[in-house]
Amino acid sequence: MGLLDKLKSLFGGAPKAAPENKAPEPVKKEVLPPKKEEVKVTKPKVAYVHLSGCTGCLVSLADTYEKLLDVLGAVDMVYNLTLADARTLPEGKFDIAIVEGAVCLQDEESVHLIKEAREKAGLVVAYGDCAATGNVLNNSRGGQWNQPQHESFVPINRVIKVDAYIPGCPPSPEIIYNFCIAAVTGDTEYLKPFMANEAGGYHCGCDLNTRIIENSLCMGCGTCAASCPTRAIEMVYGRPSFNNIRCIKCGACSFACPRSFLPVNKIKGQIV
Ligand code: SF4
Ligand code: SF4
Repeated sequence: MGLLDKLKSLFGGAPKAAPENKAPEPVKKEVLPPKKEEVKVTKPKVAYVHLSGCTGCLVSLADTYEKLLDVLGAVDMVYNLTLADARTLPEGKFDIAIVEGAVCLQDEESVHLIKEAREKAGLVVAYGDCAATGNVLNNSRGGQWNQPQHESFVPINRVIKVDAYIPGCPPSPEIIYNFCIAAVTGDTEYLKPFMANEAGGYHCGCDLNTRIIENSLCMGCGTCAASCPTRAIEMVYGRPSFNNIRCIKCGACSFACPRSFLPVNKIKGQIV
């Protein structure tokens, strides 16, 4: 059957087929391409836990501008009182708890919330200095209306185990973005200083003396002075000198110091 006859047969006007002597051609089976397996990308479930903080850390996250969309697009935000209407932490486990703010030990609800976050989250990140070091809240001493008993505000590692710290008051948008990228791509080398125990807990400008200068590590670069949000540090004869009254105990200077995460004991062992 010619092409024209075939078309006519399709539209109902087929002429009677002329008898053909040829044996019918074997029907070719259509070979379908193998089905592609669907790859399901599961986004990490993230809860943003707000304790005694000023929301400045969250604002700094928003200051990443269009990169914020990358960050929010890469995760499934399951709890964030400022951005979403989820009143409680989700049922069951989730991947990451990002915690802003210190814990008030006299506030039962805060203590319960941080413990619940630790129980449910695979990874807890102390985000910003109030959560990481206590920061300005180290100066709290209670006695103010209308909760005069609220006097003890501590960094979250005093209550639960913390996996990583992002110091800063607030942390810079760049550091937040880079942390997220390193976490997603598994760049453990970049994440190492954030996961060091030294990054969390109580800090002050005096750490530069006890951790850096006393170990003969200071090279007089001035990075600590540049990173201090209250200008509590000035460089005097090539070494940092800090003003205790101005210091808000944020720990940014130690974290920024390029000599602060060197393996001091190892170096000492090589010198002696
Ligand atoms: S000296 Fe400045 S940067 Fe260092 S802990 Fe005090 S306030 Fe923070
Ligand atoms: S940042 Fe560190 S190395 Fe640089 S001046 Fe300050 S203490 Fe010294």
